[in-house]
Amino acid sequence: MKYIGAHVSSSGGVENAPLNAKEIGATAFALFTKNQRQWHSSPLSKKSIETFKARCEEFGYKPFQILPHDSYLINLGHPEQEGLEKSRAAFLDEMQRCEQLGLDRLNFHPGSHLGKISISQCLSRIAESINITLDKTNGVIAVIENTAGQGTNLGHTFEQIAEIISQVEDKSRVGVCIDTCHSFAAGYDLSNKEGFNNAFNHFESIVGFKYLKGMHLNDAKKGLNSRVDRHHSLGQGELGEETFRLLMKDYRFDNIPMILETPDTELWSKEIAQLKDWTT
Ligand SMILES: [Zn+2]
Ligand SMILES: [Zn+2]
Repeated sequence: MKYIGAHVSSSGGVENAPLNAKEIGATAFALFTKNQRQWHSSPLSKKSIETFKARCEEFGYKPFQILPHDSYLINLGHPEQEGLEKSRAAFLDEMQRCEQLGLDRLNFHPGSHLGKISISQCLSRIAESINITLDKTNGVIAVIENTAGQGTNLGHTFEQIAEIISQVEDKSRVGVCIDTCHSFAAGYDLSNKEGFNNAFNHFESIVGFKYLKGMHLNDAKKGLNSRVDRHHSLGQGELGEETFRLLMKDYRFDNIPMILETPDTELWSKEIAQLKDWTT
């Protein structure tokens, strides 16, 4: 079964996210549990948590259909102690919010070396950050998103993601989210059947589908291997419809949240309906 939705707004409170998801016919959704552009947010209120849970129950959203995303400010591989500590504290807070909401996974971008430490040092730092956070929390999987490899962002190759996972102590609480736009920008050609098969067979051999805990469904504004992260609406970019038709027919992507982060929110209901249609 495919579970398809979008990264919906939680403005006014996290409890609004399931309402916004239901409105567009989603069977999965992503959300921010705090303001993604600020370091500090007030704690979730008891009322907010209860309403969120009640609405998820009412609309049939189980934890495995929900993929919260952390703040863009966090860099778990930060080369400097101050930035690293700030990031680790913020990441712990994000994981604890997921625990409070009864959610089982948190999606994040691995981190950036900022040109100040080596790639392997940065990957180890990211793994260490994950280990520290997992020790202090329960039941929430840290889900590493592959990146477009823009600037000094790591996690744009499956090898780098595998390297992080290899250094995580509790393998049952680490996972991966693949973003189709980021993959294409990083050089994995998902736009046609041959490239799609090559990329995902490679993913299986380097990382393994058992770690796949979510997908981001985005078309790409820039070309293959551009290393530029610009999402487009499905079928309107360099990937085209084929990528998404192939995904919808592939059982390896069953039973995980598949999330649109496409720029035109007015199209989301249509995009979700189209994707659902391609599954049959
Ligand atoms: Zn992301
Ligand atoms: Zn994404």
